[in-house]
Amino acid sequence: MSSERIHLQAGARVFDAGDEPTGAFLIESGRIEISVDHGAVRTSLALLGPGEMFGEMAVIGNELRGNSARALEPAVLVPIARSEFVERLRLADPVVRALLISQVSRYRSEIAALTGSRVSHVGMQGDEGALDKIRLESELRGALDKDELEVRFQPIVDIASGAIAGYEALTRWQHPERGEVPPTEFIKLAEETSLILPVGDYVLTRVCETLSQLSSGNLEPFVAMNVSSRQIADPRFVERVLRMLRQYRVAPDRIKLEITENLAFNHARLASLLKRCHAAGVHVALDDFGTGYSNLNLLASLHFDQIKLDQSFIRALDDERTAALVKTIATMARDLDCDLIAEGVETPAQYHALRELGCRYAQGWLVGRPQPLSEVIAASGLEAVR
Ligand code: C2E
Ligand code: MG
Ligand code: MG
Repeated sequence: MSSERIHLQAGARVFDAGDEPTGAFLIESGRIEISVDHGAVRTSLALLGPGEMFGEMAVIGNELRGNSARALEPAVLVPIARSEFVERLRLADPVVRALLISQVSRYRSEIAALTGSRVSHVGMQGDEGALDKIRLESELRGALDKDELEVRFQPIVDIASGAIAGYEALTRWQHPERGEVPPTEFIKLAEETSLILPVGDYVLTRVCETLSQLSSGNLEPFVAMNVSSRQIADPRFVERVLRMLRQYRVAPDRIKLEITENLAFNHARLASLLKRCHAAGVHVALDDFGTGYSNLNLLASLHFDQIKLDQSFIRALDDERTAALVKTIATMARDLDCDLIAEGVETPAQYHALRELGCRYAQGWLVGRPQPLSEVIAASGLEAVR
């Protein structure tokens, strides 16, 4: 904000309709009237006082001033440069930006109707992305009701025995027009709003239902489920998981919660989640290990049951230095009493290398793609028990 105050005499104009929107103003003292002129008739729109802002509408809409502002008494204003708005708007969430611009547009249309003048439409041109996002979000809400979300299961194999130890639940959205929307897109969208909570609950229900149906003699596979920071921010989250497990009569050690380290995770919250999960027998995995910010710090203070090594390491496994790193990570995981899972294993060479390097589990196209439950049952020879 500029420190140059503007001192106005009573009656002085700040701007007139049709002026360039150079910036907005914060009233430090005095009163300002916002008005529109229609011929000789002036209509007062607002009387503003200390602490209030004006002049921002035209800046947000990037249009000429649609009204006039003048001081009703001696006043002091703090100018806010247009660039400060433009930069903040540019960085804002596109949906918030679209909402703001649409509000400004509506306000200006109403003023235009009041005065019988014409105002060029601000609209949301250039913000198609935001509109698309709003549309997609409302469709996702509907998809939950219409059962368009599907949870698939990707096998995870125990490298030493070659047997399937469990599955990762990965959610798919079959959009009637757009086709399959990848989780990287719709989960991110859901995470930006509280929609991730009903989506997460849907996945949890499907996972518990699946666990109750999967059995292979005395070997019962686990199912790992991805949870987002917003879900674990709910202090009743672990309780909800446990309640659902009880409802489907599933042992708590058959579910694993996968948590991706990111800046949104609060350390104290994670520690408390781990404590409560461990007390109940639920396992927690650190997902996408190696891509985050402070992995080693996190591992020192928090006891994860599993570490999922990010696909990028597996892809580069034929590089000597990467292989050395993976070997060290495997040793570290063992010393920390964590199981190491390699993600994105696509070739037999990668699989064999991982066995040599001491990695416990493998997951990837080589072992199997994420499959519908019916295919999982058919392919693995597991029995579905009802
Ligand atoms: P993730 O948890 O790290 O899941 C692994 C991703 O790698 C999955 O992508 C999986 O399909 C993909 N993948 C597995 N094997 C291979 C392989 O051999 N090669 C390659 N190239 N990719 C492989 P997907 O299903 O697209 O999911 C992406 C991310 O979306 C997941 O990453 C997870 O973070 C998130 N996600 C998926 N479902 C859910 C969900 O129900 N809830 C939440 N919160 N997040 C989810
Ligand atoms: Mg995962
Ligand atoms: Mg991962």
